[in-house]
Amino acid sequence: MSAGTARPAEYSPETPILEIVAGSVRFPGAPGLALQDVSISMQRSRKWAVVGESGSGKSTLMRALLGLLPLQAGSVRWFGRDLAGIPATELRSLRSRVQPVFQDPIASFDPRFNNRRILEEPLIIHGWKDEKKRLERCAEVLEQVGLDAGALDAHPRKMSGGQRQRLAIARAMMLSPEVLIADEPTAALDLSVQGQILSLLLDLHERTGLTLVFISHDLPLVSQLCDQVAVLYAGRLVECGPASEVFFRPLHPYTRDLLDASGGPLPDASSASLPGPSPSGCPYASRCTRREDACGNWSPVLHDAGPVRVACRRVPLDFSPDL
Ligand code: SF4
Repeated sequence: MSAGTARPAEYSPETPILEIVAGSVRFPGAPGLALQDVSISMQRSRKWAVVGESGSGKSTLMRALLGLLPLQAGSVRWFGRDLAGIPATELRSLRSRVQPVFQDPIASFDPRFNNRRILEEPLIIHGWKDEKKRLERCAEVLEQVGLDAGALDAHPRKMSGGQRQRLAIARAMMLSPEVLIADEPTAALDLSVQGQILSLLLDLHERTGLTLVFISHDLPLVSQLCDQVAVLYAGRLVECGPASEVFFRPLHPYTRDLLDASGGPLPDASSASLPGPSPSGCPYASRCTRREDACGNWSPVLHDAGPVRVACRRVPLDFSPDL
C-alpha cells in the first residue's frame, strides 16, 4: 500500500474486530425474539465471555456473530464490515478468519473422516494444493494444541473427550484465524480436563493475539479466562463491561443472582420452577428482589455506569463505582 493511501477500516486498530449492532433474531413460529436489540463491540485480542443461564440467548448470539443466522434487525460486522454487504465468495474466504469451536466436537466432524482429513479439509477448501505443505501445517497445529503427530492417523471416535476438543480447536486454528468463538467448549469434559482446555485457549491467545469469545454458563470458569463480559437474560444484554467490574462489582440484579448461584448449578430459564421473563416492562421484574412498581412500566435500555453498561432503572445514570 503506497504512502498516503487510506487504510481499509479493517486495518485500523480502533475498529472492532467483531461487532453486533442492535441485533435481533426471531425464530420462525416463535412468539418472541430470541435475541433483542443486542449491541456488543469487541476489540482485537480481547478475551470475551458471554454468560447467562440456559435459554438466555448465548448460543443464538454465537450463531448470529458467526453469520449463521439471519437477523430480523441490526447488523453483524467483521473487521468493520457489515456481513450483509459482503459478496458470498469474499465472505467464504473471510470465514477462515472467524472460526467456531462447538461443545460437542463429534457432532461437528464428518463421521467418514479420520483426523488427518478433518484437519486438511479447511486447507483444501482454501486452495492449499501442496500435500507436503498441508501435512507440515497439520503437524505444526497439532503441536500447538498438545497432540502428537501420531494422532493424524487416528479417528476422533477413538480419542478421549479432551483429545477430541483439542482436535476441534486444531481444526479451527488451521487457517490462523483472528477470532475464535467457543460455545461451552468444556461443558462436556471432566473438571481436570476443563482446566487443560482453558489453559490451551489462553496459551493460543498469548501466542497469536487471537480474539477469544467464550460462551458459558460457568461463571467461576470464565472469570479466570476473560477480560470482558456480556451478560444476557431472555435474549437481552443486561450488563456488559470489564470482567474486573462485572464479576467483582456486579450492578444488575440478574448478574448478582448469577454470581450468587455460581457455586452450584445455574438456573435453567426454561425450568417450570422459575417465572418466565415479564412480558412488559423490565423482563427481569418477575424474578427481581429489587423490583419496584415502576419497573413494570420501564422499557429496558442500556446506560453507562462507570466503565460498565447496564440495563436496570435502579442503577443511577450517573453511577460511578468510585463514588
Ligand atoms: S429495572 Fe427493576 S425489576 Fe428490572 S432489574 Fe432493575 S430493579 Fe429489577
